[in-house]
Amino acid sequence: MPELKPAYKRVLLKLSGEALLGGLTYGIDFERMTSIAREIKEVRDLDVGIAIMIGGGNIFRGVRGTEAGMDRASADQMGLLATVINGIALQDALEKEGVVTRHVSAIEIKSVAEPFIRRRVLSHLEQGRIVIFSAGIGSPYFTTDTAAALRALEIRAEVILKATKVDGVYTADPLTDLTAQKFETISYLDVIQRGLRVMDTTAISLCKDNNLPIIVFNLNERGNIMKAVMGENVGTKVS
Ligand code: UDP
Repeated sequence: MPELKPAYKRVLLKLSGEALLGGLTYGIDFERMTSIAREIKEVRDLDVGIAIMIGGGNIFRGVRGTEAGMDRASADQMGLLATVINGIALQDALEKEGVVTRHVSAIEIKSVAEPFIRRRVLSHLEQGRIVIFSAGIGSPYFTTDTAAALRALEIRAEVILKATKVDGVYTADPLTDLTAQKFETISYLDVIQRGLRVMDTTAISLCKDNNLPIIVFNLNERGNIMKAVMGENVGTKVS
């Protein structure tokens, strides 16, 4: 039987903070983190270049601060730091699995993570290291989804793997609307015009303008990262 080959050589995996919650309502479920790290290692072992954009919603989101009356920029800085905390935890979990990683932060925090230098990141990937991006793009008023799209383009990733808690993009929220239907594929424009909450509009526009496909899939089903990388039908492809 011919050996199966990955469909992509380099991917950007967007892990939201929510993915790290496991059974918790706040913080990091370390068992869940270990199981995600193992899945990532399996993909890495196929010689697939992996960069990960880590979110922070399990700890803090800027909007929570603004709802409480905080200045938006300051609240977003707190959100950015939350992603750095997750980045440290993810690096630890991956290294426990024997994977060589580099943590790259978009805000300067040198004793914890490297600064973002594009050519250095490319060199890490060429040497088979997994790169963990934290602190989004380093500026308030953005999300880690937009940062994922930007960095994916900068490192020439062929696809964004958007790991979520639902198994794709639906006409409505499948958790509250039983008539919601899943799309196998959908265009960027449809996502924007229908107001579907796949990624924020800035992220989708960036992907659309640069023809960068996004695969939205359920991270809670083990093996889905591998399936997505192997080109199997998993979730919804936005292209
Ligand atoms: N954030 C920001 N600029 C960025 C990325 C993130 O200010 O480029 C802040 C923002 O407050 C956001 C928080 O960091 O709410 C956590 O990121 P996000 O909400 O994207 O995390 P996720 O939903 O993926 O867990």
